[in-house]
Amino acid sequence: MTLLQNRFQRVYDRIHQAEQACNRDGQVQLLAVSKTKPASMVREAWHLGQKHFGESYLKEALGKINELSDLSDIHWHFIGPIQSNKTRDISNHFDWVHSVDRLKVAQRLNDQRPDELPPLNICLQVNISGEGTKSGIELQALPSLIQSIANLPKLKLRGLMAIPAPETNIEKQCEPFKVLNNTLHALNKEFSLNMDTLSMGMTDDLEAAIQEGSTIVRIGTALFGARSYSNG
Ligand SMILES: *Cc1c(COP(=O)(O)O)cnc(C)c1O
Repeated sequence: MTLLQNRFQRVYDRIHQAEQACNRDGQVQLLAVSKTKPASMVREAWHLGQKHFGESYLKEALGKINELSDLSDIHWHFIGPIQSNKTRDISNHFDWVHSVDRLKVAQRLNDQRPDELPPLNICLQVNISGEGTKSGIELQALPSLIQSIANLPKLKLRGLMAIPAPETNIEKQCEPFKVLNNTLHALNKEFSLNMDTLSMGMTDDLEAAIQEGSTIVRIGTALFGARSYSNG
């Protein structure tokens, strides 16, 4: 077994165990977060069967997307902060965007999505821990953003994403995830939507996220090793 194979197997095992603990077998997708890691590692992971990859830095991501364009059935998710002058490249080269947090960005992603591509899957990033420094929309502002976005034809609103403040205790980790899950269901009801995605859970809190209903966990470190940000 290679190192990468070994790490993937350990993450699959963690996901399966967490799913089983709450009777959610097979309900959680693994998004492999490959930011700062070379295209060669993504290719190796693709050969292991991983087809969905998350990237945070646009320039770096575009390089990898280009380098790996020979691979079929590979899906790119943008998960980083979005500057509005970067929306065209994001809308042209990604299948998912997890980090939409304002109307201007949503509108531009919609307008710039090429006609020949299917609608762009998006999640709204919520500032769930209420910290002024983190990106994401406040909970109270979600309804009005959703009303404005729901009719944009080239966007498919899939759900909510959050990056809570780090906690070591699992009960504490669960709290914001529970809020996000309840919010998704309340919004679906209020606006008659079928949002089906909760993008939550990272290397250190995936068990808590799965317990609280995560459908996509975004895992970097546990799969690809620690990151050095020096060239990220
Ligand atoms: C880097 C990153 C991750 C992965 O975090 P790990 O702790 O390395 O698993 C997940 N989500 C987002 C938005 C990230 O930027």
